[in-house]
Amino acid sequence: MIALPDRAALFLDLDGTLIDLAATPDAVTVPEGLADVLTSLRNRLGGALAIVTGRPIEQVDALLPNVATAVAGEHGGVIRSNPGAAMQRAAGHAIPQNWLDTAAALVARYPGALLERKTRGYVLHFRGNPAAGSVFEDDLRHRLQHWPHHCLSAAHMAWEVKPAGIDKGVAVDTLMALPPFAGRVPVFIGDDVTDEDGMRAARAFGGLGLQVQEHFGDASGVRSWLAAL
Ligand SMILES: [Mg+2]
Repeated sequence: MIALPDRAALFLDLDGTLIDLAATPDAVTVPEGLADVLTSLRNRLGGALAIVTGRPIEQVDALLPNVATAVAGEHGGVIRSNPGAAMQRAAGHAIPQNWLDTAAALVARYPGALLERKTRGYVLHFRGNPAAGSVFEDDLRHRLQHWPHHCLSAAHMAWEVKPAGIDKGVAVDTLMALPPFAGRVPVFIGDDVTDEDGMRAARAFGGLGLQVQEHFGDASGVRSWLAAL
């Protein structure tokens, strides 16, 4: 079993890491017992536990209403460093309205596909219609070719348009500069491409970046490990 370093800080992705992936982002269920495990770990780590996710913070609050942790939402675009603190939003460009209109029209052509809006980005999900994947990718790549304010990111059966220069590594760096994280050894756990930035940042602090499939198998493996700590 992987040992937690002394004076660790935990940075945990949510979907596919703490909770099982579902057909759509709305369809996930939070396993019984997860909230208690996170709360006791958070207390043991002096508060140094953060959820670092692509979801907006509001969704994290809705999924884990009784778990008071730091949260970096929207891949680090919005950060709440303490449970009671205000949300800090990174400055950035809005998505042009005509892009969103086109995205809605595009998704309508592929039943089962889904448009998810974020504060400064959007996601085209194609788990429900895999044939749409390459069409969505082509459209977004073409759009972003001459637009420096956002970038394209691959997720599980989805393409995400994210603010450029913001990623989970930035989220780790930001939180590691603040109490109760500062001076601790970060351990980042995630299952997806976007988590690799967070893992790299954790390693740069002398910590660990752990890939779910490689070290735990799946989210239930992560939950067992966390419970055993
Ligand atoms: Mg994930």
